[in-house]
Amino acid sequence: MDFAPSEEQRAIFDLAREFGAEHIAPHARTWEAEGTIPRTLWPELGALGFGGLYVRESSGGSGLSRLDATLVFEALSMACPSVAAFLSIHNMCAKMIDAFGSEEMRARVLPEALSMQTVLSYCLTEPGSGSDAAALKTRAVRGAEGWALTGTKAFISGGGYSDAYVVMARSGAAGPKGISAFLVEDGRPGLSFGGLEDKMGWRAQPTRQVQFDNCAIPAANLLGEEGHGFRYAMAGLDGGRLNIAACSLGAAQAALDATLSYMGERQAFGQSLDRFQALQFRLADMEIELQAARIFLRQAAWKLDRGATDATRFCAMAKAFVTETGSKVADACLQLHGGYGYLADYGIEKIVRDLRVHQILEGTNEIMRLIVARQLLEARG
Ligand SMILES: Cc1cc2nc3c(=O)[nH]c(=O)nc-3n(C[C@H](O)[C@H](O)[C@H](O)COP(=O)(O)OP(=O)(O)OC[C@H]3O[C@@H](n4cnc5c(N)ncnc54)[C@H](O)[C@@H]3O)c2cc1C
Repeated sequence: MDFAPSEEQRAIFDLAREFGAEHIAPHARTWEAEGTIPRTLWPELGALGFGGLYVRESSGGSGLSRLDATLVFEALSMACPSVAAFLSIHNMCAKMIDAFGSEEMRARVLPEALSMQTVLSYCLTEPGSGSDAAALKTRAVRGAEGWALTGTKAFISGGGYSDAYVVMARSGAAGPKGISAFLVEDGRPGLSFGGLEDKMGWRAQPTRQVQFDNCAIPAANLLGEEGHGFRYAMAGLDGGRLNIAACSLGAAQAALDATLSYMGERQAFGQSLDRFQALQFRLADMEIELQAARIFLRQAAWKLDRGATDATRFCAMAKAFVTETGSKVADACLQLHGGYGYLADYGIEKIVRDLRVHQILEGTNEIMRLIVARQLLEARG
């Protein structure tokens, strides 16, 4: 067993961290205020190979392992978790197209998606179904020319902003096996968007409903096989959960780093905050918790890379543990900044707001516990 990152892994982390520090962190607050991320950022990330981190090299991707990819998200989140998480969603979609798309679809969609000339969004959730995603109602009807989609997707990150949407819709009977996945490019007739959602965090990335009104797409836009869409959507989620956990980890680490500096500067009762042993112990607790979270996340990623039979359970456990630890640490950092932690200028309150949603999406942390408990009970027999 080897816990040390390889030289290549260190280089990947450093590359992402340096890019984030130079090209994302200085603008993160402005992008949050504007509610959008400039389109010009994405091709820069694409040029680093971050548009298809675990897309196969034979398809033009970077062919990295899941573990390597978590290093990228951890490092970028130190600059802005909202930007990093958006990149994770794009990568999840690109991987779905690589893994399940036809050769024709891969050739048509991937080159621009991997260079991030185009960005992709993932459309599973609906107004009436979130955790119970297999209950989705958006219909896909096959016609002579292709498919027509009708329905509404809710909470779509990049809705009205992205160039194409990977959409799970019902082409058959009730239940998961009646669901297929489709690619819907922006501009298709019958595709429209709801208003911009006003959110607690992740404010830099636009979230909107994505609406389909008899939206016509060609037959070639069916992703993979009919009736397999739910399986494809779930296949993307194990890795997505690791990425989101990595985003919590990186941002919480950035909050801890900032807190360490702040406590050396801020004076109270004639000494700097870092002289109070009660506060030193809180720093130690945060360090212990983040290190435990980091090891747990890497182990889950390692299992996913090896196709371990318990990988899904470990991804779920890591997602719940790391996102909750990240939020707890970020909140403690805010407290240690006193009133200044509550002010936007110090950057901590944004981290607290951005990380909160990581306990809700890519499967809520209750659903993560459901996955873990179900498997424990099954194993007990
Ligand atoms: C900012 C943001 C961005 C998002 N981006 C996307 C996106 O890009 N694409 C996309 O498809 N979706 C996206 N989502 C949707 C997200 O995945 C869902 O919100 C999430 O899956 C939860 O679904 P829900 O909101 O319908 O909550 P519900 O499913 O209604 O759950 C409500 C509560 O009940 C709990 N609960 C539900 N069922 C059970 C159960 N069986 N046992 C125990 N507890 C249960 C939940 O954990 C939760 O606490 C996004 C959401 C947000 C907030």
